Amino acid sequence: MKYYFGIDVGGTTVKQGLFDEDYNLLERWEIRTDKTRGGRNIIPKIAGSLEDCLERNKISKKDIIATGMGVPGPVTKDGFINKAVNLGWGRFNLKKEAKKSLGVPVFCGNDANLAGYGEFHFGSGKEFDNIIFITIGTGIGGCIINEGKILIGTDGSGAEIGHIHVKDDEEDSCGCGNKGCLEQYTSAKGIGRTARRMLATTDEPSVLRDSVINAKIIFDAIKEGDKLAIKVGEEFGRYLGCAMANLANITNPQAIILGGGVSKAGDILLTFLEEPFKKNVFHACKNVKLLCASIKNDAGIYGAAKLAGDSINNK
Ligand SMILES: [Zn+2]
Repeated sequence: MKYYFGIDVGGTTVKQGLFDEDYNLLERWEIRTDKTRGGRNIIPKIAGSLEDCLERNKISKKDIIATGMGVPGPVTKDGFINKAVNLGWGRFNLKKEAKKSLGVPVFCGNDANLAGYGEFHFGSGKEFDNIIFITIGTGIGGCIINEGKILIGTDGSGAEIGHIHVKDDEEDSCGCGNKGCLEQYTSAKGIGRTARRMLATTDEPSVLRDSVINAKIIFDAIKEGDKLAIKVGEEFGRYLGCAMANLANITNPQAIILGGGVSKAGDILLTFLEEPFKKNVFHACKNVKLLCASIKNDAGIYGAAKLAGDSINNK
């Protein structure tokens, strides 16, 4: 039997999966992301952890066809990374470095792109050829797939949806350095920020006044009918729904799929997005389906394994 590894490198943990040739997930485990020494330990620690997996499962390294790796930063087609701030990485050839350390062929991509690729092949996207995938977590990530191909872009930063400019009079800076990015209003952090701003400008009663504010608490309050929380949801929907309409006008997808931690709130998200989306989208794009992701946390490792398989087979 032959195998793939699928790896999803995050700012806190590295998710890893061992897959068979048909992309069945055989084992899944995580290690902590070691960000010491400017992130220089990350790849060697992954290599060590994969060696342990081979030993545990009595698999010879020559039976690993290839490894796919998703990282939180722009990655070009050639495997160059151009800064992953969360990991402390600058610009280098990640594909080459990882291959040297792991001793197997490695194919790399942006983490949101690979999560979208996983969802496209194995989750809510598997019926379609053209999708937009949006991950709503600490930040906003995106992936555009057209005729089965990920839009990587010249510098590896295709579908950086979170940094679309949506507001002119913003004083706070986004993590990217610009002001008024979509992520500042629609990520988990952004939704919390909207709630705090609203609470500070009105005396309206709300269960949020006595809570530690986070996206989960806000969506729970929405489900209970809390009026102020519903206004927070509406603002989230206006920004993201309008951005989704603009994106749909560009790529004309069959579906827009929402993943990431905040998407766990479920279909309630869609109720806030549908109206602003329909109001702003071009008439010929109105049939786009809005869906929640089905693979959730493991989409990144599935997408990484599939990227490895498709790349080695020149698909
Ligand atoms: Zn930004």
